[in-house]
Amino acid sequence: MTIRIGILGYGNLGRGVECALEKATDMELAAVFTRRDPAQVKIASAHVPVVNVKNMADWKNSIDVLILCGGSATDLPVQTPEMAGLFNVIDSFDTHARIPEHFAAVDKAAKASGHLGIISVGWDPGLFSLARLYSNAILPDGKDYTFWGKGVSQGHSDAIRRIPGVKNAKQYTVPVEAALEAVRSGSQPELTTRQKHTRECYVVLEEGADPKAVEQAIVTMPNYFDEYDTTVHFIDEEEFRKNHSGLAHGGFVIRSGVTGHNREHKHVVEFSLKLDSNPEFTTSVLVAYARAAHRLHQEGRTGCLTVFDVAPAYLMPEDGEYLRAHML
Ligand code: NDP
Repeated sequence: MTIRIGILGYGNLGRGVECALEKATDMELAAVFTRRDPAQVKIASAHVPVVNVKNMADWKNSIDVLILCGGSATDLPVQTPEMAGLFNVIDSFDTHARIPEHFAAVDKAAKASGHLGIISVGWDPGLFSLARLYSNAILPDGKDYTFWGKGVSQGHSDAIRRIPGVKNAKQYTVPVEAALEAVRSGSQPELTTRQKHTRECYVVLEEGADPKAVEQAIVTMPNYFDEYDTTVHFIDEEEFRKNHSGLAHGGFVIRSGVTGHNREHKHVVEFSLKLDSNPEFTTSVLVAYARAAHRLHQEGRTGCLTVFDVAPAYLMPEDGEYLRAHML
């Protein structure tokens, strides 16, 4: 039977889930839920109903898995536990330090209602977390490195846009090639923040704004830029629209470890992603885990899980026999 999916929140991720479901032949989009007036939210799938969140309980028996697409800062900590009372849920909660408390809240709600939740699904946390876990299990004597980029940091772009005189801005986090090479050599270097990433900023100024003052405000901004080598490029709106409107991202998870009685053999495990669209890739991961959530719930699992708890075969639409014949 087709797995019926609901989307809660129609922003970048909401649109991405809708798009990823087009490639999932065993799933269908049943409804999009929003906090806004549904008449104001135009979705790509014209035949699918858009419903206000206050009517979600009506859909309790019509949705197999609800994919939460709200923001991690304030939406998901409230919405995911609440929705686990009504549905099986998946989210992409990415505030790493708060994952344990989020897990506890979702676990409690899902166990009480007999549903299943899988939280912090995406690429980081998500696929990068799996890469870290596998390589730590296999190489206990080693060192982990995570590099992000080249990619857009929404938080840093927002911080620049708040500077007086800035009309628009995009910030890219860029891994330092020399640092990546040093890590890949297996030498296990100690790297400072400044040695691992640089920050590149593309800024459109308001009329009459002083570029020197804006540049100074950016490169000295505490917590965001002061610990990095930052370059600032001033461009016009036309160039901004043409070359800097995308949401590309990616990164590298590397573990460098040693084996042998005298630690004489080096091994480097690397997992990397190069993504044209961060939200479309993240939601492709969410959709695969929604399939797993549905199956695990059918087998009687309830409570909260993370990517660590889901066996890989549950992500694929094909059965075990097919996977053993074609992918092992
Ligand atoms: P958006 O800001 O695009 O959307 C967040 C919510 O804002 C939506 O669900 C929507 O809720 C509301 N919204 C969106 N557009 C509008 C609008 N025009 N007017 C009013 N409200 C709007 O966030 P993203 O989809 O880009 O990202 C969501 C979260 O995903 C991020 O906070 C991030 O933490 C996480 N993420 C995780 C990753 C991972 O690897 N784990 C990777 C990438 C992102 P509603 O429809 O109810 O109004």
